[in-house]
Amino acid sequence: MLSIGNGTDTHRLIEGRPLMLGGVHIVCERGGEGHSDADALSHAIADAILGALCEGDLGVHFPDNDPQWSGANSLELLARVVWLARERNVHVVNVDSTIFLESPKLRPYIDSMRANIADILGVELGCLSVKAKTGEGVDAVGQGLAVTAQAAVLMESN
Ligand SMILES: [Zn+2]
Repeated sequence: MLSIGNGTDTHRLIEGRPLMLGGVHIVCERGGEGHSDADALSHAIADAILGALCEGDLGVHFPDNDPQWSGANSLELLARVVWLARERNVHVVNVDSTIFLESPKLRPYIDSMRANIADILGVELGCLSVKAKTGEGVDAVGQGLAVTAQAAVLMESN
């Protein structure tokens, strides 16, 4: 059986925080505000997997008032979601994702993000797409106030 899921995540960008996307540190004056490391890409993909499993959202599994997840490495949260899928004998077929960030350009970082996430999901690099867009100078992304990620995932029962 096949199932699809989609996930979206946004974090406000503030000074004094590192910007993490797909487990990669992006050199930037601002980083994502949040309880965990605020990795919008990892959160969107984890939410998409939870959606395909009909398992609610990330906040249900990792409450932002739980000190256990304070400053958490989001790749670790993603690994826990993948573990939940494996418990149900479901695996990821492929992922397509898009990051919306005004600057800097993400192209130099994309392959590292793909490698990190493909490794955790247990898929080939060719099954893990990460695209990047700007906000074209409009809305919160375009004004450099936020980073957003969207992901779609296809899952299959073993
Ligand atoms: Zn998030």
